[in-house]
Amino acid sequence: MEMMKCVVKEQKGDGYVVLTEKPIPEVGDNDVLIRVKAVAICGTDVHIKHWDDYAQKRMNPPTIIGHEYSGVVVKVGKM
Ligand SMILES: [Zn+2]
Repeated sequence: MEMMKCVVKEQKGDGYVVLTEKPIPEVGDNDVLIRVKAVAICGTDVHIKHWDDYAQKRMNPPTIIGHEYSGVVVKVGKM
């Protein structure tokens, strides 16, 4: 099984953000798979780490977080 690095919010509460590895997901019909080349942290990630009201209304841990990235599309679903 091929693995990828990812940052996970493991549970509700202040903290619980870890760098770990997960299996690379299957590509669904309407998905693309991106090999990430660069990432950044934005204010949303800080809200998630500290588990403030903003995060509590939008997140349901455990989940992979991060949305500021660029990379190369390596696989495309049926589209
Ligand atoms: Zn952002």
